[in-house]
Amino acid sequence: MAKKQFKSESKRLLDLMINSIYTHKEIFLREIISNASDAIDKLCFIALTDDKLGMTRSDFKIQIKADKDNRTLTVSDNGIGMDKDDLENNLGTIASSGSYQFKQQLEEKQDDIDIIGQFGVGFYSAFMVAKEITVITKKYGSDTAYKWKSGGADGYEIEECEKDGIGTDIILVLKDNTDDENYDEFLEQYRISGLIKKYSDYIRYPILMEMKKNRVKEETKDSENPEYEDYFEIETLNSMVPIWQRPKKDVTQEEYDRFYNEKFMAYDKPVKTIVTSVEGVVTYKALLFIPSATPYDYYTKEYKKGLQLYSSGVLITENCEELVPEHFRFVKGIVDTADLSLNISREMLQHDRHLLTIAQNLEKKIRRELTAMISSDRENYEKFFKAFGRQLKYGVVSDYGVHKDDLQDLLLFYSSTEKKLVTLAEYVDRMKEDQKFIYFATGENAAAIDALPQTELLQSKGFEILYCTEDVDEFTLQSLMMYKEKRFCSATNDDLGIENDETKEDEKDSSALLTFVKETLGDKVAEVTASKKLVSHPVCLTAKGGISFEMEKYFNSVQPESGMMAQRVLELNMSHSAVKTMESLIQTDIDKARKYAEVLYCQALLIAGLPLENPSEYTDLVCSLI
Ligand code: ADP
Repeated sequence: MAKKQFKSESKRLLDLMINSIYTHKEIFLREIISNASDAIDKLCFIALTDDKLGMTRSDFKIQIKADKDNRTLTVSDNGIGMDKDDLENNLGTIASSGSYQFKQQLEEKQDDIDIIGQFGVGFYSAFMVAKEITVITKKYGSDTAYKWKSGGADGYEIEECEKDGIGTDIILVLKDNTDDENYDEFLEQYRISGLIKKYSDYIRYPILMEMKKNRVKEETKDSENPEYEDYFEIETLNSMVPIWQRPKKDVTQEEYDRFYNEKFMAYDKPVKTIVTSVEGVVTYKALLFIPSATPYDYYTKEYKKGLQLYSSGVLITENCEELVPEHFRFVKGIVDTADLSLNISREMLQHDRHLLTIAQNLEKKIRRELTAMISSDRENYEKFFKAFGRQLKYGVVSDYGVHKDDLQDLLLFYSSTEKKLVTLAEYVDRMKEDQKFIYFATGENAAAIDALPQTELLQSKGFEILYCTEDVDEFTLQSLMMYKEKRFCSATNDDLGIENDETKEDEKDSSALLTFVKETLGDKVAEVTASKKLVSHPVCLTAKGGISFEMEKYFNSVQPESGMMAQRVLELNMSHSAVKTMESLIQTDIDKARKYAEVLYCQALLIAGLPLENPSEYTDLVCSLI
């Protein structure tokens, strides 16, 4: 029988496959099984109306046989089969629309992503592991069976042959092992069953394999030294009904949790399981999990966001990034929709309208579920927030704040008065009648913020302050700008929108002292003022203009060369004894008065958590005064 050549396009692709260094060679099995399942789908449909066929749904199956002696792996189905023309057209040509992009990607050696699954060039992927492929097939309605055989790029032969029953056997003769690749692994039953579990668990027809097992010999059962024997048993390797296809009421939380742990290799117990089934413009089922712990690589490049995408039970991609927005990248889960073609390419996925609609629905769903948790399951919400609150805050500040309205109600901050995490809505509901702003203060931790002189007045007046202890907190509030028409205001701002009655009258006659201190400190401070907010502390620093001290600290830690500096305003508590002493010293001992000014400024720096320009000079100064 004369060899036929593959069509030129297919030949080139085949070449690439055969010489592929693609790391996911294992997916060939998924592709072959997915084809078998499609072929069964077709015959199953015919069986509904053709009584002569004498088959019902439960008769359909896929069988796998590994022959170690001959190094062959056979996948058989009793699906629709192929006739001679089908073999020519289907296996002699690559019709997939994604094949061009596929070739390009393969040539670019982007071998860490599952490109084969995404481009649907399935059958040919078997040439990654096989040196020869034989297809024995008999089509529904035909009496003749055919054998198609190919050793790869040099073409294929088709001839008539014998075969019982309708369906297709795909026989792969595995490539010889090399130093780098051990193809024999695809003959090991544990490897095969592992691959089926991983990629084809939810194929709706049973995938059967005769498994070698071991047991105690019956006759030695009761003896002290029992003997063992091998035996063979046919096992169904796939579970067939995916957990997300089962009605929620039939699945226990333990089952969902176990599935989450196994499927996503996670060790935590999710704080929320979201099961959703939508029918309409788009039809899909989704099973989503909100983790309770931050994966160790979460804030690194290694972490891959995305949901697993299935099309009618067949895994299309492990990580479909398009399905979750960046600010919910912690969500794990699965989406199964029949509205997608299995052959969809990466590029097409990105622009697929159905997928976009699903993503939008899921985003809303996740948001609603999280919002509901704030009132219904606060404990778990706080657990979640400790793990991923930072992510939500990044979500507020990123993309120029376009998501802030969606995310602001999910934020929690520690409250000075409640001594626990509170939402912005809870804060605003409690605001005092005369309170203009939502106050916040920034520092290392709650205790450090409590000790800030700038928060003294607010605290003494009983205003609630939100504590910003993470570097992203202040940016978050600045991006929000306001919440329910109330502006955010830092405790270190020069204007807190309140008056401190006790210090007010001192303001008038303090200008001489303020000028003196400003002249003494020179450019170190932009301004020296009589404080309206200090109560027991003598001094504090506040920032003027757009840059806060926290921004200064943050930028100087990540970009020391930026030299970013907030404009310092030194506030003096005019009724404090230290300030009063300094004032009287101006008349009696001006040098000492200058030292006082310097010392007080350094103290203000220390309290604000800012570095002293010259620490030894400061200690000398203090010592000279003692
Ligand atoms: P795809 O499945 O994406 O169309 P493949 O290269 O995997 O591309 O398969 C090419 C075609 O060969 C299939 O579309 C199908 O028509 C046919 N085919 C492959 N395997 C089988 C099978 N087991 N039974 C019947 N037809 C098959």
